[in-house]
Amino acid sequence: MPVKENLLGVKATIPSHVTLVAVSKTKPVESILEAYGAGQRHFGENYVQELVDKEVQLPADIRWHFIGHLQSNKVKYIAPFVYMIHGVDSLKLLTEINKQAAKNSRAINCLLQIYIAKEESKFGLDGSEAENLLMSAEFNQLANIRVVGLMGMATNTDDTSLIEKEFKSLTTLFQLLKANFGKKHNLDLTTISMGMSSDYKLAINCGSTMVRIGSTIFGERNYQK
Ligand SMILES: *Cc1c(COP(=O)(O)O)cnc(C)c1O
Repeated sequence: MPVKENLLGVKATIPSHVTLVAVSKTKPVESILEAYGAGQRHFGENYVQELVDKEVQLPADIRWHFIGHLQSNKVKYIAPFVYMIHGVDSLKLLTEINKQAAKNSRAINCLLQIYIAKEESKFGLDGSEAENLLMSAEFNQLANIRVVGLMGMATNTDDTSLIEKEFKSLTTLFQLLKANFGKKHNLDLTTISMGMSSDYKLAINCGSTMVRIGSTIFGERNYQK
C-alpha cells in the first residue's frame, strides 16, 4: 500500500497551521512506520487495547491521540503516554483523566467533544454544557489536565451545506468560549479538531486547526480480520 505517497498527497493539501493526525486504527505497525519514515509524528487510535499494543512497538517520539469514546475505567492504560484525548464529554471523565495524569506526574491535553451532528448516535456536549463544565469549581481544581480545544464530528451525509453549517457552529462556539474564559492554568483554547477523509477540506475552510485522516492515508479499513 502506498502509504508514503498518500500521506504526502494529503499533506500537500493542508496549510501549515493545521495539524494532521494520521488515523491508524485497525492498521498494522508496518503501515504506521511507513508514515513515520515519511515524517509523520501525530497518530490517532480509537481502541485502548490496540493503542497500548502499538505504543510499545513504535518509536517513543510519536504523539498518540486517542480519538475514540473513552471509558473512565480504561484511562489508566493510556495515561502514561497519551499526548491528547479528543473525545472528552463529561466532567467525570475529565476528573478521571486528571487523577491518572497526576499518578504519572504529567498533564494530559484534552479536547471537549461537542455534539454538532444531526444524528442520535454521536457523543458530545452541547454549547451550554461545555460552558457550565468550564465554569465549575470542580474543573478549576483539575491541575493535571489541559483543555486545549474542541472536537466535533459532522453528520455522515452528502449534504455539504449541512456539514458546513455544523463545522461553522463548532468554530463559533470555540470563539465564544475563548473570549469568555481566556487562559487559565488548565485551559488554553488553541485547537479545533474537525474534519476526516471525506470532509477535511471543508473543515479547514470553516476554521479547523487539526484534521483526523485515516482511509485516505492508510486505505479502507477492513473490520472483519
Ligand atoms: C476513524 C475516525 C477518523 C478517520 O476517518 P477516515 O474517514 O478514515 O478519515 C477520524 N475521526 C474519528 C473520530 C474516527 O473515529
